[in-house]
Amino acid sequence: MSSPWLEPPHAEHAPLRDPASFDVAVIGGGIAGMTTAVLLKRSGATVAVIEADHVASGATGNNTAKATALQSTIYSTIRRNRGVEAAQVYAAASAAAVEEIARLGVPSEIQRRPAYTFAVDESGSQAVEQEIDAAREAGLPVVADELSELPFPVTAAARLDDQIAFDPVGHTRHLASQLHGGGCAIYERTRALRLTEGSPCQIATDGATLTADRVVVTTHAPVWDRGLYFAMLEAQRSYCVAARLREEPPRGLSITAGEPTRSLRSRGDQLVVCGEGHQTGKLTSEDQPFSRLEAFAREHWPIAEITHRWSAQDLVPTDRFPMVGPYLPSSSRLFVATGFMKWGLTGGTFAGKLLADLLNGEENPWAEALSPARLSPGSWPRLAWHNLRAGAYFVADRVSPATATDVRELKPGTAAVIREGAERTGVYCDHGGLLHCVSMRCTHLGCLVRFNEAETTWDCPCHGSRFTVDGTVLEGPAVNPLPVKPPPQSCG
Ligand SMILES: Cc1cc2nc3c(=O)[nH]c(=O)nc-3n(C[C@H](O)[C@H](O)[C@H](O)COP(=O)(O)OP(=O)(O)OC[C@H]3O[C@@H](n4cnc5c(N)ncnc54)[C@H](O)[C@@H]3O)c2cc1C
Repeated sequence: MSSPWLEPPHAEHAPLRDPASFDVAVIGGGIAGMTTAVLLKRSGATVAVIEADHVASGATGNNTAKATALQSTIYSTIRRNRGVEAAQVYAAASAAAVEEIARLGVPSEIQRRPAYTFAVDESGSQAVEQEIDAAREAGLPVVADELSELPFPVTAAARLDDQIAFDPVGHTRHLASQLHGGGCAIYERTRALRLTEGSPCQIATDGATLTADRVVVTTHAPVWDRGLYFAMLEAQRSYCVAARLREEPPRGLSITAGEPTRSLRSRGDQLVVCGEGHQTGKLTSEDQPFSRLEAFAREHWPIAEITHRWSAQDLVPTDRFPMVGPYLPSSSRLFVATGFMKWGLTGGTFAGKLLADLLNGEENPWAEALSPARLSPGSWPRLAWHNLRAGAYFVADRVSPATATDVRELKPGTAAVIREGAERTGVYCDHGGLLHCVSMRCTHLGCLVRFNEAETTWDCPCHGSRFTVDGTVLEGPAVNPLPVKPPPQSCG
């Protein structure tokens, strides 16, 4: 299960094995981290990127690969939650990010295309009309359109020209190749575990310790709990399929205004369809996200072959606006970028521009609106609800309960929970008849993880951490693995 963009082989960067020292350490090698690092290098800093896996292997490698300032109904949402000025900042930053991607990227990989937000029913049409108004008020030259290239009736559409279809993995690897060398370095397969802020800051990793005057955290979900980011962000998972068509796929970068979300683009003779989002840890066995996306594609296009299936998650702040700036209001050495609401190819790029300006002591007109120090009154009820709901997951679990003797009967590819007092052990039977047993207490804050059948992972519904069936961390904010328990016997 991997996106087409992650298929080409990549240059390996060695892990951090010996202590090292830099002006700036950037933690996380996605588009936000690599853009920040390259812009800081260009201004003369020595920069190290620490990446737990490989460059672009996170959300940056697993998305729809559109760089557009028109993003479904985002301007109506921001105008409602944070007002017109915030919508103007977001529009200016996103439009600048589209051009920055073109400037920093590989020119032959940048394809200019129109972006659309479209509706297929009356309520969606109203949402599109409002979005045209909100986007224009925010400063974007958005116009009404008929979007006739889609093979089903569209009731309304908004269009923004000259947006970009690109390869986010190729783009981010290209940034990595510009960063490495000349006093700068990338350390892959190196997980940052602890930070001691000071002069300089010290980052303990699973290799050696790295010191830096300033640290930028671009780990998607911020990995350190100071700042309580986990309480202000909701992790939402979405799914994608790519299908080879027997006819020319649509050229535009389109997305629905309403539910269910269908985000579309073409890649050569392939159609890419993404959607079926849900809160991480809340997928049920009935949901079948890949099947639904495939059924949608088959209903409307002649499909020769489904070539790829992949999924990823992104973080949605309680006030629906990205968070980029000092980690805490008092931080002068620690910075963060997160909460891109499934639009972080542009969001991660404008975050890189803003962070480079902040670290260089330069003015930036987006800084105040994007500062994590704000928490607008509009977000307070949602923040309270989000955290009440998280509290429930300390005690609840949903996979069918089992006893140690039952697990022998588990079918390959299924999971169960063994309860012993307050403790829960997650048990998964693999296709070779081996049991994999882990503690179900998330190592971030102790919520109970849930089994994700579509991806064979244990996912935390509180703050979005994800683990393999053997407990390895796939996504933070957790940095430590789930403790492994000895399997009681084989299964299947
Ligand atoms: C289905 C889907 C479709 C999307 N489509 C689009 C789109 O078309 N356009 C768009 O603009 N956006 C899109 N997005 C959103 C976009 O992909 C993300 O917002 C963006 O990639 C986030 O980039 P990032 O650099 O913040 O995070 P990531 O790319 O996840 O990078 C974070 C990196 O940090 C590393 N890391 C984590 N913890 C540690 C640690 N402790 N130590 C060291 N490294 C660590 C991870 O391994 C990872 O590589 C989509 C999202 C989804 C889910």
